[in-house]
Amino acid sequence: MEYKILGKTGLTVSSIAFGALQFARIDRKEAINLVHLAYDYGINLIDTAHNYPGSEEILGEALKNIRDKIYIITKSLSRNKKEFLNDFNMSLKKLNTDYIDIFMFHSISKENEFELLKNEGIIEALVKEKKKGKVRFIGFSCHNPQVIDRFYELDDFSTLMVPLNFMTGEYVQKQIYEKFEQFNIGLLAMKPFGGGRLADIELCFKFLRNYPKFIPVAGMQNLKELEENIKYLGQADLLNENDKEKIKKISQELGTKFCRQCGYCMPCPKNISITDVNFIKVYYKQMPMDKFYNMGLKEIVKTAKTCTECGECSEKCPFNLDVPAIIKENIEFYESISI
Ligand code: SF4
Ligand code: SF4
Repeated sequence: MEYKILGKTGLTVSSIAFGALQFARIDRKEAINLVHLAYDYGINLIDTAHNYPGSEEILGEALKNIRDKIYIITKSLSRNKKEFLNDFNMSLKKLNTDYIDIFMFHSISKENEFELLKNEGIIEALVKEKKKGKVRFIGFSCHNPQVIDRFYELDDFSTLMVPLNFMTGEYVQKQIYEKFEQFNIGLLAMKPFGGGRLADIELCFKFLRNYPKFIPVAGMQNLKELEENIKYLGQADLLNENDKEKIKKISQELGTKFCRQCGYCMPCPKNISITDVNFIKVYYKQMPMDKFYNMGLKEIVKTAKTCTECGECSEKCPFNLDVPAIIKENIEFYESISI
C-alpha cells in the first residue's frame, strides 16, 4: 500500500479510503470482516457519516481493537446547532470512540447552507469540540465547485471531499486545484467510479493518478471489490492516448446525462427535487433496499411527473445536461423497480 500525507492534517493515510456507505446492504459479520481485511491490506482511512444506515455502529464494533491505527471521517447533514451536536455525540457513541479524526459538514453545496452553518453557530460549535480534543480536523463535503471558496473563510478548514472522476473534472480546473495546493487542503475524491455509473475501474484510477493529492474514497461491499480496488490502484499509471480516447467515447455517451448533483438547476417552478430524481439509479445501487424504499422517493417521483419540460433547469445547468430527459429516464427506472 502506498501512503500519502493528507494535506495540512499531516496524517499519513493509505492512498485509498474505505467508503462505508453500503454496510447496511451486507451482513453485519461480513461488514466487520471486510473492514479487518481492508486493514490487513493497509487501508487506514475510513469514511462514514451519521446518515449512512448502520455504518457507524458496525465500524464501532469493527474498530474496537484497531481504533488507534485507523483514521475515521464522519459527517453530519444537520443545519441546526442542537441537532448537529446531537449527531456529533451520537457519532462518538456509535463509533465507540473518544474522538473523530476528521469531522465534515456534509454536502454543503449551496451558499445559503454555508451561511446557515455560520449563522446558526454550527461551525463555532464544532471548533469548540475540536478545542476539547473530540475532533482533530474539520472539513466539508461538497457537490458545487462554486461554494468551495467560502470554506477558506474558516481557519480550521483542512479537508475537503468532492466528487472526482473523469466525468467531473471541474474540481481539478487549474485555478481551483492550485488554491487547494496553496492552502494545503487534504483532498478526498468521492464517487471515484461515478456512483457506479463508470464501469471501467482501471480507467477511473488512471484518471485519478493525474491528481495525486486526491485520495479516492471507494465504497466496498465485498472482498472481490476490495481486491479489485487494491489491484487497479496499484497498477494505475497515467492516462495514455488509448485511455484518453476511451474517456472521450464514454464522455460522448454519458455527457448529456451525467448529473453531478450540484443543484445549480434548482429551484424548479414545479418544485421538483431534480438532484434527487437524477440520482435515483445511483441511490438504488448504493443504498440498502429498505432505506431506498423509505426515503420519500415515491412522492419525489410523483412531483417529478408534473415536469412540463419547460427547460429552465437545462438552461441553468452549467454542464449543458438534458435535464428533462434524465428526469424521464429516472422516473421510468423507478417505476420499473417499484414494489
Ligand atoms: S442537472 Fe446539472 S445543474 Fe442540476 S444537479 Fe445535475 S449537473 Fe447540477
Ligand atoms: S423542465 Fe421540468 S424539472 Fe426542469 S425546470 Fe421545467 S418543470 Fe422543472
